Amino acid sequence: MTQAPVDTDVLAIAREQVLERGEGLTQEQTLEVLRLGDDRLEELLALAHEVRMKWCGPEVEVEGIISLKTGGCPEDCHFCSQSGLFQSPVRAAWLDIPSLVEAAKQTAKTGATEFCIVAAVRGPDERLMAQVAAGVEAIRNEVDIQVACSLGMLTQEQVDQLAAMGVHRYNHNLETAKSHFPQVVTTHTWEERWDTLRMVREAGMEVCCGGILGMGETLEQRAEFAAQLAELEPDEVPLNFLNPRPGTPFGDLEVLPAADALRAVAAFRLALPRTILRFAGGREITLGDLGAKQGILGGINAVIVGNYLTTLGRPAEADLDLLGELKMPIKALNETL
Ligand code: SF4
Repeated sequence: MTQAPVDTDVLAIAREQVLERGEGLTQEQTLEVLRLGDDRLEELLALAHEVRMKWCGPEVEVEGIISLKTGGCPEDCHFCSQSGLFQSPVRAAWLDIPSLVEAAKQTAKTGATEFCIVAAVRGPDERLMAQVAAGVEAIRNEVDIQVACSLGMLTQEQVDQLAAMGVHRYNHNLETAKSHFPQVVTTHTWEERWDTLRMVREAGMEVCCGGILGMGETLEQRAEFAAQLAELEPDEVPLNFLNPRPGTPFGDLEVLPAADALRAVAAFRLALPRTILRFAGGREITLGDLGAKQGILGGINAVIVGNYLTTLGRPAEADLDLLGELKMPIKALNETL
């Protein structure tokens, strides 16, 4: 009796392992996917889309973000125009509570279920924690939306305070693979970021953790990063593509080619079949107008509406029209509670 040939093609394996059984790709398998040629891209995106539809469903989660404190950060993340250490044009500025509530209201009107308050800091001080507490309370009193925060590295006490305020999700990005991190940030470590994420998870908040692709990492490191995220099991992974900002150390890096960006999104979907995979900053310049459509049909199931933190994104209507055109419903608030 002859044995049936064992299929060694990574997409055939992924179809059985990820699509049928819901088991994400390993680091080695992710690397194989990242190495696929452009001739397999369409097939890869279609599989990533099937995986997302099977394990996450058709809903797309919409989120708005607002910067409570912009610029003047003491850290040296080489991609970031909010660092006070580089000659980048972002000035330090604070937002007041009424403006914060107004932004939450505008965000809720788009159908968004999450509103994320972001501050450009190493970690919050007492003043920032007090501002956040006041802001979260005011939003919860006036707006029907879930509040997320992104305030840098936290102490255990601050984690507990945020959980007690009713913060639903905490964003803290690992940014890149552990092995590449020292080339990106020198003022703190990957492990310090990991510690914050662990405390957030243990306190019962949802974990949102992603990073930026196209910061000079190798394909091996891209696969390593996907595997490290899979180990963390975040509820949400925001994927950014480097938008090289003038004045930052990464200001002269090349923009990631569109095919590489789409291949990476699909590979991350196959490594993380159940996570909310969100298109975050930088996609306009990497993917162009068609990018949103291809991404949403290639593994993405969440978008950020409106402006990003320091660069202009697409207008909210453009994204929401696209979801309508693709017949993908916006996830409703009651389903996320
Ligand atoms: S800690 Fe955040 S705000 Fe500060 S430089 Fe790094 S990425 Fe930018």
